[in-house]
Amino acid sequence: MDTKIPAKPSPVVKPLERTEAHEANPWAQAMEQLDRAGKAMKLEPFALERLRHCKRILTVSVPVKMDDGTVKVFEGYRIQHNMDRGPAKGGIRYHPSVSLDEVKALSFWMTMKCAVVNLPYGGAKGGVICDPKKMSRGELERMTRRYTAEISIIIGPDKDIPAPDVNTNAEVMAWVMDTYSMTIGYSCPGVVTGKPIEIGGSLGRNEATGRGVFYVTRELAAREGFDLRKSTVCVQGFGNVGSNAANIFAEHGTKVVGISDVGGGLYDPKGLDLHDIMEYRKTHDTIMDYPKAEKVSIDKFIELPCDILIPAAMEGTINKGNADKIKAKYIVEGANGPTTNEADAILHKKGVVLVPDILANAGGVTVSYFEWVQDMQAYFWSEKDINARLQDIIVGAFTEVYDLSKKEKVDMRMGAFMVGLRRLGKAASIRGMYP
Ligand code: GLU
Repeated sequence: MDTKIPAKPSPVVKPLERTEAHEANPWAQAMEQLDRAGKAMKLEPFALERLRHCKRILTVSVPVKMDDGTVKVFEGYRIQHNMDRGPAKGGIRYHPSVSLDEVKALSFWMTMKCAVVNLPYGGAKGGVICDPKKMSRGELERMTRRYTAEISIIIGPDKDIPAPDVNTNAEVMAWVMDTYSMTIGYSCPGVVTGKPIEIGGSLGRNEATGRGVFYVTRELAAREGFDLRKSTVCVQGFGNVGSNAANIFAEHGTKVVGISDVGGGLYDPKGLDLHDIMEYRKTHDTIMDYPKAEKVSIDKFIELPCDILIPAAMEGTINKGNADKIKAKYIVEGANGPTTNEADAILHKKGVVLVPDILANAGGVTVSYFEWVQDMQAYFWSEKDINARLQDIIVGAFTEVYDLSKKEKVDMRMGAFMVGLRRLGKAASIRGMYP
């Protein structure tokens, strides 16, 4: 097979410099992780070189009639990083800071994530540069429908299956499903996951990422010999991942002492009343002014005393500016890319044990996979079944990564990359190259 041809270094990805810009660029960060792991495990140059490029990048302009009668054009992306192991899979993000490099990195991390937990998928991601907090429901619906129509030339149940991500939810997925189905002329639930149950969504999908975060932490506790019932946890981010993770930890007897959202953080060393905070949040945009806990600024939140820190917000929140101040002994990454490579090195030196995103938050895409399988078969499973299968997959992947990182004497991010890259490398070389 021709795949043994040594690949020339890519002219596109230049040698990386240690600059602020480098730390702030998720794609540069992701490629550095890939290069480091690829080199350590002697991944075939052909496979490594291919993973340094996204297979397909689609940029779309999304004109939307706003409520005031004007037309605003948003920029959106859908990127398919790799499809060697199956259709591309990954969420859609609505955020003012969405950029091409961010979506590229997120699509690459999806490729890695699906390979680490061995789902028959490649990786993709989508994003629209917008501020959904400043848009009406009608504007969001029109934007979603037009964006879906624009990317419908590359998505589909056998090609690329979107899902929720930052600032998108089941309702947005329903609009995606409906718009796509309208254009092809029949209902196609399998085109998107994270949908409402009534139109082919899966039980357990909403909590799945948080549940996966809990499962990996429980395995970590068993291996590292600490007791989750005697531990404290701080959760940064109170979106789908953070709020569900916090609730599931609390249900299992771990004391949640800190939570934060975009406005700021709350801290109570005796444990926060999550139920009360959830109630409060129903009528307030942020938890910041919740009266029954100590307020903490966004910057200081990460430094709170706790055993386990769960970053479940955005990329780069743990960086070289604050990594040294972290008091937690364990970090479990609920978000994608929350820790920069610079911070990783600092944490490693401090002896902090970190479970990386591509393993820790894989519960979401795992139940997305279950949803897609159920849609394709039009046969739906019980929540008990779903959670049991999720646990099997997450515990299995954790065990594989943990054992490999011990054997190779590397941290768990490197261990997870090695597990994923081994599968991706094999798929690439077995398929060979066309033409
Ligand atoms: N957006 C989630 C993630 O980053 C879920 C993706 C999916 O379910 O396809 O993993």
